[in-house]
Amino acid sequence: MPQSGGAVMLHSRGQSPALQRTASVFKAILIDKNDQGQQVRLTDIDPSALPEGDVTVEVAFSTLNYKDGLAITGKSPVVRKFPMVPGIDLAGTVVDSQHPDVAVGSAVVLNGWGVGETHWGGLAQRARLRGDWLVPLPAAFSPEQAMAIGTAGYTAMLCVMALERHGVTPDQGEVLVTGAAGGVGSVAVALLSRLGFRVVAVTGRAHEADYLRALGAVEVLDRAVLASPGKPLAKERWAGAVDTVGSHTLANVCASMRYRGTVAACGLAGGMDLPATVAPFILRGVTLAGIDSVMCPRAERLQAWSRLATDLDPTLLASMTRTIGLGEAIDTARALIDGQVRGRVVVDVNR
Ligand code: NDP
Repeated sequence: MPQSGGAVMLHSRGQSPALQRTASVFKAILIDKNDQGQQVRLTDIDPSALPEGDVTVEVAFSTLNYKDGLAITGKSPVVRKFPMVPGIDLAGTVVDSQHPDVAVGSAVVLNGWGVGETHWGGLAQRARLRGDWLVPLPAAFSPEQAMAIGTAGYTAMLCVMALERHGVTPDQGEVLVTGAAGGVGSVAVALLSRLGFRVVAVTGRAHEADYLRALGAVEVLDRAVLASPGKPLAKERWAGAVDTVGSHTLANVCASMRYRGTVAACGLAGGMDLPATVAPFILRGVTLAGIDSVMCPRAERLQAWSRLATDLDPTLLASMTRTIGLGEAIDTARALIDGQVRGRVVVDVNR
């Protein structure tokens, strides 16, 4: 890769000449791959290397999600173009725009759309993006709070909305959240509890039971209860469930749903397979609702962010979040994939 003065330089693609003159070298996490494998480092990047897009954002905060952990560690082939700046989320201010609906100076949030996978992402001080991907920063949140929510929290909201769409209400019985001490799980516990559900949290970290109770869980189960192969049908218990784990856990959750209950399945922290039978679906009318945050249509994203502004207790959000600097993101991503990170991690890209 050509370098100049230590900064990564690629060709200029579609950047306004005015911005090219004023923008200075910025810091970013950069993932590269060669015959020796994947390398990741914090580096300086020349703005002329930014990818194509009609909006440039001065990033204030990003975050670490499970997918960012997979990208940075290279544990799964999340990154499909190299070199890549990871970071599926960002919050910041627009500094250049050719998009008719995105004004310079506006505060924006980005989640998904392949950013951090096929298009340079948010773990950087600057990003060049498509204006269509951006949503306005909700008035209820600071950029740091929006990243405390991030894709994890917005996905938890999508899961809750899916349960509601399928008619799950608090009077129908308990709801289950798996991977509860993780990012999606923590926000899901807080949201469902605030909405009046009796929430049972599943975790592999018994020492996080008090944390989960503080978020609103009425009971905490050991993840081992759901982790092994189970029967096609088990005792009916859950009216609804949010599953972030997949594999045997998801199969066992489906098997223990109440008649016509709904499982919102969004994750694979325990495995991508689903060793289940159709019994819960054809004998108990159980619904398995798939949740995808990446390509979720704009109207539903806006609805999710507006629901987060009303249904997520900001004090609980603060209690599940810690903030790190960009230089700590690589090590923290490794810890996240090792299951050592509780709740949410915000990345202050200017620290
Ligand atoms: P986190 O790493 O923050 O949380 C994952 C949690 O899963 C861990 O904290 C742990 O919870 C649990 N877990 C980890 N390993 C295992 C295992 N082997 N068996 C059972 N449980 C395990 O990740 P996120 O919250 O950011 O993401 C959770 C999942 O949701 C990921 O798979 C991610 O890819 C997916 N996701 C999907 C999205 C979509 O659009 N569909 C969007 C966002 C996330 P505990 O310690 O409590 O047991």
